[in-house]
Amino acid sequence: AKEAGHNRYQFYSEDMTARAIERLSLEHDLRGAVERGEMFLVYQPQIELGTSRVIGVEVLMRWRHPARGLISPVRFIPVAEDTGLILSIGEWGLRESCRQAQLWYERGLLNACISVNVSAVQFRQTDFVGIIENALQESGLAPTNLELELTESAVMQGAEPALNKLRELDALGVKVAIDDFGTGYSSLAYLRQFTVDRLKIDQSFVRDVPGNNDAEAIAAAIVAMGLNLGFRIIAEGVETEAQAEFLQSVLCKEGQGYLFAWPMTAIEFEAWIAGWQNRAGS
Ligand code: C2E
Ligand code: CA
Ligand code: CA
Ligand code: CA
Repeated sequence: AKEAGHNRYQFYSEDMTARAIERLSLEHDLRGAVERGEMFLVYQPQIELGTSRVIGVEVLMRWRHPARGLISPVRFIPVAEDTGLILSIGEWGLRESCRQAQLWYERGLLNACISVNVSAVQFRQTDFVGIIENALQESGLAPTNLELELTESAVMQGAEPALNKLRELDALGVKVAIDDFGTGYSSLAYLRQFTVDRLKIDQSFVRDVPGNNDAEAIAAAIVAMGLNLGFRIIAEGVETEAQAEFLQSVLCKEGQGYLFAWPMTAIEFEAWIAGWQNRAGS
C-alpha cells in the first residue's frame, strides 16, 4: 500500500510538472502573439427569438499557434490573466472589434450592437473607461453600438470603483451585460444598483431544457426575476429548436447558439448575414 501511495505521489507530481512546463511554454508563446498576427476574432450572432432578427454579435478570440494549431480561449485567457498579458491582448481585441463593427455598419451589413468580452483584470485597470473611449474614438463606432460582457465576479469585486466605472460607461452610452449569469454569487437585488442592461443566462441552465423539471424551473425563475428587475435577458448555448421554444415560453426573447450560427470569421460572417437576412426577409 505504501508503494502504491508512493507511485501515486510520483505520478501526481510528474503530472503537475508536465502541466507547469506546458503552462510556462504557453505563457512564453503568448508574448508577442498579437504582434505576430496569431490572434484573430470570430463573431457569433445574437437573435431575437420571435422575429429571427440579428440584434447583436458577440466577439470571441482565437489563437492560431504556429506549432500547436488552434488554442481555445478557455486555455489561453487564464494564462493571459495570470501574466497580465490580457491587458494588451484584450485591448487589441476591443479595438479590432470596434473597427470591424464600424466597417460593417458603414457597409450596411450590420446595424446592431457588438459585444466584447472583458476580463475582470481589464475592468480593474484604473484607466479602463479611457481605453474604451479611445477605441470608440479611433473607430468612429457609436458608443450605443458597443456592449461589454463582464462576469458577475468582475462587477462585484471592489464595489465602489466598479460602480463608478459602470456609471461612467452608462453616461457614455456603452452597454454592459453580465456574462455567465447564474453561476456566480451576486444577488439580483444587489445587481440592480449597477447600471447593467442585460443578463446572459449561462448555457448550463439552457442545456437541459425542456424536459428536465429542475432545469426548467431554474431557467424560468432566472428569466422572471431578471425581467422584473428591468434587465434584458439573453440565453447562451441555444442548440435546439425545442430550447428556443421553451425560452420563448418563459418570456426570454433573445438567444445565441449553434442553432442559429457558430462563431464565424469576419469573412464567413459577411456571407452568413447576407443569407440570413434574405431568408428572414428583412
Ligand atoms: P463565454 O463568453 O461564455 O462564451 C460562450 C462560449 O460558448 C464560446 O466559447 C462559444 O463559442 C460557445 N458557444 C456558442 N454557442 C454555443 C452553443 O450553442 N453550444 C455550446 N455548447 N457552446 C456554444 P469559446 O469561444 O471557446 O470561448 C470560451 C470563453 O473564453 C468565453 O466564454 C469567454 O469567457 C472567454 N473568451 C473568449 N473570447 C474572449 C475575449 O476576447 N476576451 C476575454 N476576456 N475572454 C474571452
Ligand atoms: Ca461572453
Ligand atoms: Ca446602460
Ligand atoms: Ca458562458
